[in-house]
Amino acid sequence: MIDTKADTMSHPIPDPSNGLAPYAATDAQSHGRQYREPSPAYRSEFQRDRDRIIHSAAFRRLEYKTQVFVNHEGDLFRTRLTHSIEVSQIARSIARALRVNEDLTEAIALAHDLGHTPFGHAGQDALNACMKPYGGFEHNLQSLRVVVELEERYAEFRGLNLTFEAREGILKHCSNANARELGALGQRFLDHTQPSLEAQLTNLADEIAYNNHDVDDGLRARLIDIEELTEVTLFREQYAEVRAAYPDLSQRRTVHEVVRRMINRQVVDLIETSTQRIKTAAPDNIEAVRRHPEPLIAYSAEMREQNLELKRFLRTRLYQHYRVHRMTTKAARVVSALFEAFIEDPQLLPDDASVHCKRLETDGGMPGRARGVADYIAGMTDRYAITEYERVYNPRELT
Ligand code: MG
Repeated sequence: MIDTKADTMSHPIPDPSNGLAPYAATDAQSHGRQYREPSPAYRSEFQRDRDRIIHSAAFRRLEYKTQVFVNHEGDLFRTRLTHSIEVSQIARSIARALRVNEDLTEAIALAHDLGHTPFGHAGQDALNACMKPYGGFEHNLQSLRVVVELEERYAEFRGLNLTFEAREGILKHCSNANARELGALGQRFLDHTQPSLEAQLTNLADEIAYNNHDVDDGLRARLIDIEELTEVTLFREQYAEVRAAYPDLSQRRTVHEVVRRMINRQVVDLIETSTQRIKTAAPDNIEAVRRHPEPLIAYSAEMREQNLELKRFLRTRLYQHYRVHRMTTKAARVVSALFEAFIEDPQLLPDDASVHCKRLETDGGMPGRARGVADYIAGMTDRYAITEYERVYNPRELT
């Protein structure tokens, strides 16, 4: 992508703050990028963030990283790429309804999982355990690391040089120890202040997306069934409605109709509750949003309860299902074994990873080496991790 200097005389840039509420993020109030760059022509700063994310290598790898199911389980299951697109779709609907910045929202949504390891949470927990002696591994922090440090696409800087607001949105959680290292970006975790509304709503859109698509994927994989799902209020109510209106509808279409209505219920509740909260707090700009003692984006008390009920159900019936557990146990073993092999003997690393690792080790000793290995493993797709495991451990693979 080529950034040309904005020629505002012949190509007027459409005002991206048109129609936005006063508390929305805007180019004019942005805390800017780490490295100064000329403004883009024809695009807003946050559109440019989004475009940089879409063109990154880490974004393409999301296609072969898992949410709950290992990638080769079946072609219909969500991957982190389709999940990120669903999050973006839900988040943009909410952003538009609340008149906040849709471009920033989209950028945060598409980038939020860039730092995820292969094999979903199992991979991340395994890598975190391996990294315990070296400062741990947090996937949110890794997403930030990808856009700040690991992507190598520009002549002038490492990373994607995203705006502060995009980076703020990507860093959803962070330990205090890491927050202290991050300067302005980490400050809110120490001060207990809030991120932008765009960041807050994308965080909840993420939850809405995965809770509901895990219901859909779980049913498809026959790990859960409709009867047990009727224990969950949110499902039961929509299911009863759909059955009453369309008693002869096939099961597949019934499930889609129910899941679609579940998402809609949560999104509508979130928009309406948040609209009220914003009205009451009346923030007159983004800084007032950040200073507000609690997040302004929220569910009603009733929906929060229903949401927790759905999450509890998914945790015990789906994520802890023995078949999922078998998959994730194997996956965790692959990640730990790869880490062990590479930390012990970094010469096993392929060239690029080896150079990266050596550079970090020169600067930071063993913790640096470990971070380099973690970066390499975190960047792997599910199938690449399995292939690497075979190459490193299987004596039949002597190539
Ligand atoms: Mg996510």
